[in-house]
Amino acid sequence: MKIRSLTINSRAEVIVKIVREVLTLFKVEIVGRTGEADYVQLSVVNRQSGCEPPSVMTEVFLFAHDGACEKFHFVSDGKADEVPRAAVHRAIKRNVYAFFRTRFAVPPAPWGILHGVRPTKIVHRWLRGGMSPEEIVARLGEDYDCSAGKARLITDVAVRQLPFLAQGNARTVSIYVGIPFCLSRCLYCSFPSNLLPSEKKLRAFMDVLARDLDAAAEDVRALGLTVQSIYIGGGTPTSLPNDFFAEMLKMVYNAFYGSHIAEFTVEAGRPDSMSAEKIAAMKEHAVTRVSVNPQSMQEVTLERIGRHHSPEDIVRMVHEIRAAMNVHINMDVILGLPGETAADVERTMAAVTVLAPDDITLHALALKRGSNLRLKMETEHVELPSDAETRRMSEAAVRAVEEVGYRPYYLYRQGYMSGDLENVGYARAGAESIYNIQIMEEHQTIIGIGGAATTKVLGIRSGRMRSVFNAKDLVTYLRDIDIYIEKRRALLRAEYEEETP
Ligand code: SF4
Repeated sequence: MKIRSLTINSRAEVIVKIVREVLTLFKVEIVGRTGEADYVQLSVVNRQSGCEPPSVMTEVFLFAHDGACEKFHFVSDGKADEVPRAAVHRAIKRNVYAFFRTRFAVPPAPWGILHGVRPTKIVHRWLRGGMSPEEIVARLGEDYDCSAGKARLITDVAVRQLPFLAQGNARTVSIYVGIPFCLSRCLYCSFPSNLLPSEKKLRAFMDVLARDLDAAAEDVRALGLTVQSIYIGGGTPTSLPNDFFAEMLKMVYNAFYGSHIAEFTVEAGRPDSMSAEKIAAMKEHAVTRVSVNPQSMQEVTLERIGRHHSPEDIVRMVHEIRAAMNVHINMDVILGLPGETAADVERTMAAVTVLAPDDITLHALALKRGSNLRLKMETEHVELPSDAETRRMSEAAVRAVEEVGYRPYYLYRQGYMSGDLENVGYARAGAESIYNIQIMEEHQTIIGIGGAATTKVLGIRSGRMRSVFNAKDLVTYLRDIDIYIEKRRALLRAEYEEETP
């Protein structure tokens, strides 16, 4: 649906964002004064009561081309245990959502008005407050119009995470190492990864990475932190040539490895980046978990999304890793890839589950700015599967993982997700990735090292995350490494130094 203009009786950024989120959910476009549109204007007027908990009445005016105006009003109340500001925002969102549902008879959105990357966070808060899982499922429906299926999913995920989140203490951290190179660029990717550069440039990267690792290791020692897990991601870390890859692993191992390490993961991503030498290096450096990410097991799809390998290469890679070392294997599948149907996903899931990985993450395609896919959709009219088809893909994929007994254990959402879906990690019981849980729940400090890495420091008392970022582009990372090291050090010291006994 297209509307020429939107007015809101508040310029506050957060209110505008809330209203626009609902418009995006129902695919309503604001086209500007000269664009072709179904309606001339949508006006949203929110009035907040002075009482506690707050209540919001939202009046909505919809103007047609012939000057006629339809008027609606909706009222939502906050709850006594909500922060008043958050209650007001939720009430506004709920009212605007109710307007679209009522006026245009659109079906409910699976997540209702529960937006944001980490919907499990609210479940954890309620669990800490003493609510039972059943009460939480009911309240997600009541407060957020969240469907019973999604409410049950995030509640189950959160409950399953509890024993993992209870491990360690305020000084337990994890390490992320970013290797920002890939062998080619996948169609849907917006990650700022670089194609593998010349050896000279790689050498420069390795030297800077060594300084970055040394500085972080020094901080970990000086501040008395304990490293729980190490995750080497990217990019595709295994896109490094054999000798560089082994050298990088050795540096990471020497900097952080010890008896305290519960998990050491390497993203191996694509079979065209793997070799017997790299598998041997991972074994030598005690890697415990390897990600092998087919995304699809359909040959024609792999070609369409720019991955230079076949489904058979994936199968061979999994067998070679298993034959050489005793590790957990993660596999990723993307739902909603261009040209695919639910039948393709069924075939992919059959091919993936027969390999019996320990962990399968089902991603819904997120159409990201900066991806070649987005560009192609604008210039070459590449079409994505419909939302309904992507949901059928999700149903088929979930059925496949549940049939082999895997259980959902981490979940996150992004903007512009196909089918208004989510990314969910499923694992065999006992094979859950601690790092995946910690990073998604923002429950622990993660020290980021390397290209495009983010350091997130969890406030011991405030519970808030503060972040610093290494540059996304390689030239800036190499040039300004001392600045990044200092910023990270300052953030870590600010949180942990005064706490040192
Ligand atoms: S391998 Fe991963 S990081 Fe590299 S281009 Fe493909 S999706 Fe992006």
